Amino acid sequence: MEKKYCTAVVLAGGSGKRMGTKVHKQYLLMGGRPVLYYSLKAFEDSELIDEVILVTGSGEEEHCRKEIIDRYGMSKVKKIVSGGAERYDSVWNGLQEAKADGFVFIHDGARPFVDEKIIRRGYECVSADRACVAGMPAKDTVKIADENGFVADTPDRSRVWIVQTPQVFETALVKEAYRLLMEKEHPAVTDDAMVVEQMLDFPIRLFYGSYENIKITTPEDLGTAEGFLKNRY
Ligand code: C5P
Repeated sequence: MEKKYCTAVVLAGGSGKRMGTKVHKQYLLMGGRPVLYYSLKAFEDSELIDEVILVTGSGEEEHCRKEIIDRYGMSKVKKIVSGGAERYDSVWNGLQEAKADGFVFIHDGARPFVDEKIIRRGYECVSADRACVAGMPAKDTVKIADENGFVADTPDRSRVWIVQTPQVFETALVKEAYRLLMEKEHPAVTDDAMVVEQMLDFPIRLFYGSYENIKITTPEDLGTAEGFLKNRY
């Protein structure tokens, strides 16, 4: 089968309020390099990825170009676009630049441990099922809380997955889902799969990410990340 054109949209907008630092989480240093460097590098080095679109916070485009793209020679980063107020605004802006015919890997720049194996599994999954997300089976039991902080429900753990990125779609499909989402007043979505589920009622396949594919969100994540990094390099 002919290989499909693959675009990666790497998200590096947003303020990172939960990190509590002035520096946005995707620029914090890990092993002396910004977290975002590692996320971009995985797509840069992947045999499957043809083009990378980087979505940054507004006003951070030049900083990213100089300090990451040029410094580390990321030749597949063809476009840098400004993000928006919410993650879905940033994805929408990034998707505008993606070639409609092919697949798109939407990835959080704050997940530096994405790797070629995960990208490959994503490619295989999207080739078969058109819409899929990386995730891992939950290790902990998950409780759904009511508004007063009491347990309302306990889902069967064997069916609970914690989802990650990349979330991988036929580009035309996810673009259409986002187009419909952006017509809404106050969209309440936290990942891309939700957009495709809700707007198009389309089934989403889960594929294995990895337990290391964490999102750097709060300060303790950086310590964990340094540990993972030592094992890799
Ligand atoms: O804030 P959250 O943990 O959901 O962020 C996930 C990813 O989305 C991060 O890589 C962040 O840089 C990106 N993001 C964005 N634009 C926003 C909010 C988050 O690109 N407005």
